[in-house]
Amino acid sequence: MDVKKLILPGACFFCLKKVNHAWCADCEQDFILEIGRCPVCARKNPYNDICGACLKQPPYFHRAEILFNYQHPASHLIKAFKFKNRPELARCFAERFTENLTIKLNNNNRILPDILLPVPLHKNRQRQRGYNQSLEFAAQISKHIRIKVNSTLCSRIKNTDPQSALPMSTRKNNVKGAFCLSDETIPKHIAIVDDVITTGSTVDELARLLNKAGCETIEIWAVTRA
Ligand SMILES: [Zn+2]
Ligand SMILES: [Zn+2]
Repeated sequence: MDVKKLILPGACFFCLKKVNHAWCADCEQDFILEIGRCPVCARKNPYNDICGACLKQPPYFHRAEILFNYQHPASHLIKAFKFKNRPELARCFAERFTENLTIKLNNNNRILPDILLPVPLHKNRQRQRGYNQSLEFAAQISKHIRIKVNSTLCSRIKNTDPQSALPMSTRKNNVKGAFCLSDETIPKHIAIVDDVITTGSTVDELARLLNKAGCETIEIWAVTRA
């Protein structure tokens, strides 16, 4: 599918039907599926239970929420969001993400995080792309649930190779030492906001740092998980 051909404002990204959203309700059936996931890392898990990977080596974060699976056709939306200069897709992602989240929060008496922390890009990469897609997503979420976005608490000091270009085995090392925290007070409960979680190494490295600095509860909120 040629993504560029499909981008029209006011039309469904997939079938071109006229809609006031990035995709239509029919097409959404193909990618926002109710499937079981690990409550900690959001990997697919039909039993809705903590997965083997999290049992073996628990991550530094405590919970992950995602909107959809990184699979065809939704993967095209993410590629457009990241690489085809479509930051406005964040609005549609955030709308659906917060709808789902609000239901979960109400059902489980969960407490909202103190801040949203978008995964920072290295300044060189941000300059190339012109925007940080995780910050766009966080800013849109913040409009719906009124939690402040903090984009100054953390910066990316290592311009790492894109995780997607690396074999799984080297991704953890690639992000080691990639982030640094400012001297601001660290809130006790933080949601790290990201676009795509692949192995989880990037968000776990950031969570490790926050945890070391005294953050007690760390959630990951992402558009999608591979
Ligand atoms: Zn459609
Ligand atoms: Zn897990």
